[in-house]
Amino acid sequence: MAEKTHVYADNAATTRLSETALAAMLPYLKEDFGNPSSLHTYGQRAAWALQEARESVARSLGALPQEIYFTGGGSEADNQAIRTAALLGLRKGKKHLITSAVEHHAVLHTLAALKKEHGFEVEILPVDAFGRVTVAQVAAALRDDTALVTIMLANNEVGTLEPVTEIGAACKARGVLFHTDAVQAVGHIPLDVKTLGADMLSLSGHKFHGPKGVGVLWARRGVPLQSLIFGGGQERGRRAGTENIAGIVGLAAALADAVGEVDEVAARLTRLRDKLIAGLAQIDRSRLNGHATERLPGNVNFCFEGIEGESLLLLLDAKGVAASSGSACTSGSLDPSHVLLALGLPHEIAHGSLRLSLSRETTEEEIDHILAVVPPVVDYLRGISPVWEQIIKNAQ
Ligand SMILES: *Cc1c(COP(=O)(O)O)cnc(C)c1O
Repeated sequence: MAEKTHVYADNAATTRLSETALAAMLPYLKEDFGNPSSLHTYGQRAAWALQEARESVARSLGALPQEIYFTGGGSEADNQAIRTAALLGLRKGKKHLITSAVEHHAVLHTLAALKKEHGFEVEILPVDAFGRVTVAQVAAALRDDTALVTIMLANNEVGTLEPVTEIGAACKARGVLFHTDAVQAVGHIPLDVKTLGADMLSLSGHKFHGPKGVGVLWARRGVPLQSLIFGGGQERGRRAGTENIAGIVGLAAALADAVGEVDEVAARLTRLRDKLIAGLAQIDRSRLNGHATERLPGNVNFCFEGIEGESLLLLLDAKGVAASSGSACTSGSLDPSHVLLALGLPHEIAHGSLRLSLSRETTEEEIDHILAVVPPVVDYLRGISPVWEQIIKNAQ
């Protein structure tokens, strides 16, 4: 795999671990292996690293160190935020939860579980053709018994940015907790939790060149976070289990790096993204999914009529381009992505989607390579597709 693929354009699925993050982690995988709960020097060194990492992450987000809770990834942070709000809601008889149709499954499936377990009413707001939910929709849906609104900051499939700050203000005015899944946004667009308007925010290390299996739930001071995992008193009693020190240290280093260069990288990627979009738009019967400008700097998502996303991916992989179709979690099933369907795309078109997600490592030469490779592959697949013949006949 590694030999034949030269252009990695699947950074929304995961990113390469940075050299800085790796170097920061290595001591904690080797000589500094102590348990931060131990009182001896080994333990103290680990506890000190944990505290440093917490302060560093807080600085990167504009947060307070005591508002940072390390988790086992973005999915766990989403689960914990949502279950916290649900538990607090249950105590007050509030059983209404609001979300959008384009959320990650870590959000949607947690809400579905709460509906099944406790009879919560889950209101899933539809999105417009670009994947956006409006603050007016959220404001109209808020009720006295609403326990939580959870709306993502940036969509992982089509890159659409949601009006989170405005939504947060609407929630605050009604005294409703607001969580945002910012896994795709953190480290990729400028962000400060002081002005964001959320009460809780999820992020994940491996989406910004940190390690996998480690994430953060930021919870505004005063939000009584509820534990998903019971045991020892780690994370101030909110997440039991010996801390993943190397992972946490790596996440903090990667985040500081990403945040430090976010403006510069976002500007460069926006230019590369728009070049890629302009090139792919030349392909007959292609369409850009998501918003033209209100989108992540590194996200490109297209549909090509008459072709299967899966076949496209395999041929592109053979030509040295690693991309994705739908989302990594759903590929392997034949169901088209719930996000593309929520945008209003018909099943047959949603099947032919291609996501190219760039990172700070992406070069202009790589964009040129993608632009040289995709059109002939699309032509070839259409040439052997009976569906394409029909589409052309119908158009005549
Ligand atoms: C990747 C991702 C997650 C899950 O994060 P993990 O660390 O892989 O569990 C959640 N939400 C969004 C939007 C993502 O892109």
